[in-house]
Amino acid sequence: MFKDNNLKEIYEKYREGRLAHAYLIETNNTPKLINDLKELIKVINCPEEYQGSCKLCNLCNLIDKNNLPSLVTIEPDGASIKKNQIEELKINFETKPIYSKYNIYIIKNAEKLNGSSANAMLKFVEEPTEGILGFFITNNKDVIIPTIKSRCQSLVITYDSDNILDKLNITTEQFTSYKELINLYLNKIASNALINHKELILNKVSERKDIEILFKIIFEIYINYLEKNLNKSYNEEITNIYEIKEGTKEIISKLNIITKFLQDLSYNGNMELLLDKFVIEMRENHG
Ligand SMILES: [Zn+2]
Repeated sequence: MFKDNNLKEIYEKYREGRLAHAYLIETNNTPKLINDLKELIKVINCPEEYQGSCKLCNLCNLIDKNNLPSLVTIEPDGASIKKNQIEELKINFETKPIYSKYNIYIIKNAEKLNGSSANAMLKFVEEPTEGILGFFITNNKDVIIPTIKSRCQSLVITYDSDNILDKLNITTEQFTSYKELINLYLNKIASNALINHKELILNKVSERKDIEILFKIIFEIYINYLEKNLNKSYNEEITNIYEIKEGTKEIISKLNIITKFLQDLSYNGNMELLLDKFVIEMRENHG
């Protein structure tokens, strides 16, 4: 168990009975790390000796559904993690857990703890309470408030990137320039502004195969937001290109529109007409 996994180190400590009360983990892929953490939390807590899957206990089931009361994930509320979010956590954790051995908190974007929320958080890391386990997650340890950092066991977990460049056979330079163009284009579509969308695209990329790549990236953006909405692991590098706040249903209907566009494009449909149709359909489906 966890042989090749990045969380092996924490698992080994658990087996030796030397689990720290709080870990600070720097990672390049938060969604993947959270998924792996959930596996680790199952291993540590499952009464059925979890071995990679468990259909027997309520605990594993609740973790899968993000419904375990003793597992609390905190993420920034707006620009920062607020003091009241931490106060709530404290109240929550005054009660002993029902299903699990530990009360566990995960702080995502821990660098967003501000002065007052970090202070409130210090109680957990300063006077560790038996039965409480914490994970601070960040993309950059160097910007974590020192009082927190110094009281956590710290480790770095790096994942290989899901390589979109290999998948679409494009260069980093192409990807960078497409990212900007896609962000601009999708923003214009969402804003309903009366602009010439076709020219926006065709001035930059006119070859059919380049337009195909562009729309394949747009497809990747939507599919990754779908994964995100379904609490699956997704590629942050892709979702960072453009922010989608729509629900699962809207995202699926847009994936259909993009798929149809790519299909028509491959059948040599008239490019300008296809681009017009695309904008109209995307706007009609705006959630
Ligand atoms: Zn279980």
